[in-house]
Amino acid sequence: MSPATEEQVLTLEESPPNSRDTFVDLIVIGDGETIHDMPAPHAVRANPRRGIQAPAVVIPLLPDCSPDLVRRRHAIAVDLSVEGMGLKLESPVDLLTQDVVVVLDKPGGGFVCTGLAVCDEPGETPDLHLGGRFGGAAHDLLDPKNLTPSFVASQLAYVLPQPAALLERWAELGVLERFTWDRVHVCPRCEGMPSFRRGCQACGSARVTQDRLIHHYACAHVGFAADFESGGELVCPKCRTRRLVVGADFEHLRGRQTCFDCHWSAPELDLVAQCLRCQLRFPCHQALELELVGYHAHRLDPLAFLASCGRAAPVRPGSAAN
Ligand SMILES: [Zn+2]
Ligand SMILES: [Zn+2]
Ligand SMILES: [Zn+2]
Repeated sequence: MSPATEEQVLTLEESPPNSRDTFVDLIVIGDGETIHDMPAPHAVRANPRRGIQAPAVVIPLLPDCSPDLVRRRHAIAVDLSVEGMGLKLESPVDLLTQDVVVVLDKPGGGFVCTGLAVCDEPGETPDLHLGGRFGGAAHDLLDPKNLTPSFVASQLAYVLPQPAALLERWAELGVLERFTWDRVHVCPRCEGMPSFRRGCQACGSARVTQDRLIHHYACAHVGFAADFESGGELVCPKCRTRRLVVGADFEHLRGRQTCFDCHWSAPELDLVAQCLRCQLRFPCHQALELELVGYHAHRLDPLAFLASCGRAAPVRPGSAAN
């Protein structure tokens, strides 16, 4: 270790007594150890919690993230900051995971919910106090980006990031709200995403040709453009008028469509879909219209909630750890 590095090494004994709040930022360079690793006498919050009194329901998560209805408890939210909150439970609870959803009554009516990663914390009534940080599996469960479908290129389909059955269970409790996120047309066989283009009504092929027609104004004759071509000029095959000028003497018209593959002929083409996943080709009107369901959570905004609670006294420091 170089002398310069040695000078940066601090220990708790050597540090000034009031340096506890900042020692986590000091890093010892050189030997890979940090002072952060040393045991701290107390955890210190960057954002002190404010006292509130709000009725709440705590719904713990089972290991599969579904609601643990057996361990659901009424509670009173007693403190809140942008980082976490504390609650007093109506009765003790033995959690299976450290993740809970908290549904909080708003002062003006309605409710909001949030996901809490519960921290074990000693207190005056350890059995009834529950506190933690906003984060963990319950927080992820309510994250908007995990509640709406997204297109997964490898599957060529819209997929919900979390199992629909799981989200339905939370919707049944009212924590999530189901809504129609979008509607898409998909393959009737495999529900994959198709591409769409115009094609033959009979076989769906895009290899088609359209007749070019000429309408001679003077004699009202309509015929194939090829039949008007004669010796490098346009001559009407009916009335024999020569040197026809487009716009003044005639107009071009579009004729029937003819398929190169099956020789079907029709005035119009169909909109034809081809599944990008299973390659099924089908008329557009046979496509399956799929409703894509998303979910919405009325998520807690701690600052807005505190503002709606009015002025509240700061919580006594150290009453609960984050
Ligand atoms: Zn003519
Ligand atoms: Zn065809
Ligand atoms: Zn398909």
